[in-house]
Amino acid sequence: MNKNIAVIKGDGIGPEIVDEAIKVLDAISQKYNHTFSYDYILMGGCSIDVCGTPLSDEAIEIAKKSDAVLLGSIGGDTTTSPWYKLEPSLRPEAGLLKMRKSLNLFANLRPAYLYNELKGACPLKEEITEGGFDMMIVRELTGGLYFGDRETKEIDGQMVAHDNLVYSENEIKRIAKRGFDIAMKRNKKVTSVDKANVLDSSRLWRKVVNEVSQDYPEVTLEHMLVDNCAMQLVKDPKQFDVILTENMFGDILSDEASMVTGSIGMLSSASLREDKLGMYEPSHGSAPDIAGKNVANPIATILSAAMMLRYSFDMDKEADNIEKAIEKVLEKGYRTIDIMSKGKEEVSCSRMGDLIVENL
Ligand code: NAD
Repeated sequence: MNKNIAVIKGDGIGPEIVDEAIKVLDAISQKYNHTFSYDYILMGGCSIDVCGTPLSDEAIEIAKKSDAVLLGSIGGDTTTSPWYKLEPSLRPEAGLLKMRKSLNLFANLRPAYLYNELKGACPLKEEITEGGFDMMIVRELTGGLYFGDRETKEIDGQMVAHDNLVYSENEIKRIAKRGFDIAMKRNKKVTSVDKANVLDSSRLWRKVVNEVSQDYPEVTLEHMLVDNCAMQLVKDPKQFDVILTENMFGDILSDEASMVTGSIGMLSSASLREDKLGMYEPSHGSAPDIAGKNVANPIATILSAAMMLRYSFDMDKEADNIEKAIEKVLEKGYRTIDIMSKGKEEVSCSRMGDLIVENL
């Protein structure tokens, strides 16, 4: 298969970790006889330096024409970098928001997977994590409370603020379909999270999710209130496969779920459009404190590339191959500095990339 990938190395550790992901993609393309071509585009601080804007229209056009976008990370040290003296709409993060909006990326995927080898980094008790856990949070990304109208005004001598939480049937339907499609590629269970005992928007959410579920008879659907879900994530994370939820609940729950895996350098993510196009990136930032030292953990970015193969290109066995290679490397005791523990061998960012390629 031929695929065109728009690649954004970005700032800080971005170029180092993306180089390792490309190394792995090249090895996969050779092994499985695919052709991946890369269009490198600028976004974030590096784009401000070169183009005077965090994301140019030309870069957006290239991304739109691609089959998928692979991103390292953007941004600099927010206290010392001159990028943060610019007005907010010209700062690095504005580029990322503009890209998400321009590509209409409405579905955010955040896996939380506990590697057996990294169980020590998990803050939960051993009896809870026994056997590991493997879930995918599917979060609606362009609707709900963060996009409703809002206002702060004075009423009767005191300040009053409101934020509107609005969801339409169609918005719920498209994210629900995405959640069920993803469950079909996994363990065929969806937990839809809402606050239907209080909110009208959640009652509509639940109704539409039930309707969509009729088209997926193989998938088991359960509903859970968001407060209960927050508790269950730390009490019994093994019960979850796909968690499907709206924007604000997903924002909070996906951070909670990723913290229980214990390691920021291992967390991938994806943002998807209605067709196959998606943007894939690690959950962490540009780590300016370790940039240029060849010590960053490239695994989150390599796992993001694996998600790209699975969800944008339908290359499931190639994605499995990458994920298994990462497990093998961890089993053999190799660690980057962020996941280092006693008795293991510390390796650089580029060596970790080489090791993953060797274990494909
Ligand atoms: P960060 O995630 O960059 O770093 C937090 C800590 O984790 C640092 O100590 C860093 O060294 C470490 N770390 C992060 N990724 C690592 C990796 N792969 N390997 C080893 N260690 C790693 O968060 P921050 O310091 O708050 O933010 C730095 C910059 O990144 C800011 O400009 C912020 O706005 C930006 N940011 C960008 C994104 C993105 O590109 N999507 C996301 C979050 C933050």
